Amino acid sequence: MTHLVFTVDVDRDAAWPVEGNGTAGTRHKPAPSFDATRKGFFSLLETVNALDVPTTFFFEAATALELEPVSLKGHEIACHGLDHEDFTGKHTDKPFTRVERRTTLQNALTLLENRFNTDIDGFRAPYLGWDLDLLMAIAETGFSYDSSIVQGHLKNPPLPELYLPEWKDALGHKMSGYLWPLMENKRSVQEYVDAVTKSIAQNEPYVVLSTHSWHTHCSVERGDLLLAEANQNIQNVRQLLEALKALPGLKFAKAMDVALQKV
Ligand SMILES: [Zn+2]
Repeated sequence: MTHLVFTVDVDRDAAWPVEGNGTAGTRHKPAPSFDATRKGFFSLLETVNALDVPTTFFFEAATALELEPVSLKGHEIACHGLDHEDFTGKHTDKPFTRVERRTTLQNALTLLENRFNTDIDGFRAPYLGWDLDLLMAIAETGFSYDSSIVQGHLKNPPLPELYLPEWKDALGHKMSGYLWPLMENKRSVQEYVDAVTKSIAQNEPYVVLSTHSWHTHCSVERGDLLLAEANQNIQNVRQLLEALKALPGLKFAKAMDVALQKV
């Protein structure tokens, strides 16, 4: 049995690094915006609820505060930073110090636990930007698992890791578990179904598929999308989840249950 973990990074619209500034902006806009992420989040939630798909939402704390309170019963709430920090400084040339990392992680965790009135187990680094000290800081802050690392990029991490998949597509090109190219009309639903089918055939214990809350309603390349385009993106996510639900040997599970080997 292979477990399918469906995750949504809930962050500001087209979250993008700002040079010299540790916290993120919105691509093509002078200040962070949250309109697309609000629309996309509620559309995706409606979709996974309708299909009964348990979903793990990695919330950026600042975005969680922008959204109207909502029940996430049956789903998992996890953490994706406070202000979408570039902790390692890879994109901004402004790495966070050892102390800044720990303070920021603690603030994000406290804020999310208070906002949702629940314990939080998981962390995913913005931009998937991690290093060993950040992983240590995540563990020290009290998170039980991390999900920022692509399979094969680090053995023996300091806390349980839910690795992100990487496949080769039919043309031999690298393909990740993010639906980014699907939302940008560069990959089809079938390509993701084929990739997951391959993982089931290889007896992989789990596969993580991920998307961003804003991506159905806002293109990284073209900015805010027309309603018809957004509806098509939601339809694509729905079609993909329906196709995956029909695959034999595959069962949906929350990230924490797979990362902590509770399923
Ligand atoms: Zn993000």
